[in-house]
Amino acid sequence: MKQSMIVVALLALAAPAYAQLGGILNKAQKIQEAKGKFDDLNVTEEEERTIGEQVSAKIRQRFGVVQDPAIHKYVTLVGTLIAQQSERPNLAWTFIVLDTDGVNAFASPGGIVHITRGALGLITSEAELAGVLAHEVGHVAHKHAVNAIRKGKAVQLGANETLSSRGPFLDKIANKAYDIVLENKFDRNDEMDSDKVSLTLAEKAGYAPGKLADFLTRLDERNKDQPASNGLFASHPDTQARIEAIRKQAGSRNGAVVEARYKAHVKYKPTPVTAIATVEDGASGLTGSTKAGDKKEDAKKEEEPKKKGFGLGGLKQAVAPEKQSAQVSASGGSRGVGPDRAAKGGSNPAPVKVSVSNADVAEFKRGVA
Ligand SMILES: [Zn+2]
Repeated sequence: MKQSMIVVALLALAAPAYAQLGGILNKAQKIQEAKGKFDDLNVTEEEERTIGEQVSAKIRQRFGVVQDPAIHKYVTLVGTLIAQQSERPNLAWTFIVLDTDGVNAFASPGGIVHITRGALGLITSEAELAGVLAHEVGHVAHKHAVNAIRKGKAVQLGANETLSSRGPFLDKIANKAYDIVLENKFDRNDEMDSDKVSLTLAEKAGYAPGKLADFLTRLDERNKDQPASNGLFASHPDTQARIEAIRKQAGSRNGAVVEARYKAHVKYKPTPVTAIATVEDGASGLTGSTKAGDKKEDAKKEEEPKKKGFGLGGLKQAVAPEKQSAQVSASGGSRGVGPDRAAKGGSNPAPVKVSVSNADVAEFKRGVA
């Protein structure tokens, strides 16, 4: 009784202070709104995650999710071990296995990393998986997608929009981020940066650094007969440059490869690149498929030349001009997307929730030997 009276009295005393604080906050918000017109891409960590969730939802819709908790748990353990070594260990890191034969990995802002069943099939050891996931963790840790949008001024506040109504604005960023992530439109410096992060994080976790290069080499070999204009993973000199840079940085440093545990957990077999079923651009994984090679429609829908990004497999922009024009004439002037990007996906976009504790990760790390 007495206590509650004191509380009431305190609240009464505090009320004017609250009102004052409210006024200050209002003023601060107005200043922020005015500033927002000029620097409107200062997204908060929470907003970054919101954007990432939207990007992930689209990726999951496009490729489907493998509805298997066991594979998700394994990939989450490797991924979490890696993410804990990063500059942003406390993000709600989430690892998702996409249900497609295409070989790919996508990093959503805010800490949602996707890797395809096809990539897991091509990877041969835990150190390689760690290397690929660490590359994607690098994109997230260094905010490459959001920064690319900011640098490109690709998204701006509309005339009647303010920072206090950020929903539609964040939607625009999310749409742009999806495009960047799906098409691997990171620029060369960001890719090189993520490769460096990959080395560092893999090594800190106890893995042999540079195994990412082994994976890229295998991918390059797999894609050697693909025309360079026809995919993210086509063989061309910049993939080699990237592989060489990784190998050089890794030098003679070594660590655990962990092949046996990988093979015990991952049973997927790689699908030959020519046997990957594809869908038309814009179609979700839910709808019909055509065989790889039937990609004229996809090609037409590619709006802009891929000058910048490169995915797991290499730079697209770096095709020598004479080589590129030869390809253009060979393919009737159309630009295709590769079978990995155009790959058909599974029908279920629902995330598979797994929980992994710090103790689980610590226990798991003891197997990195
Ligand atoms: Zn990348």
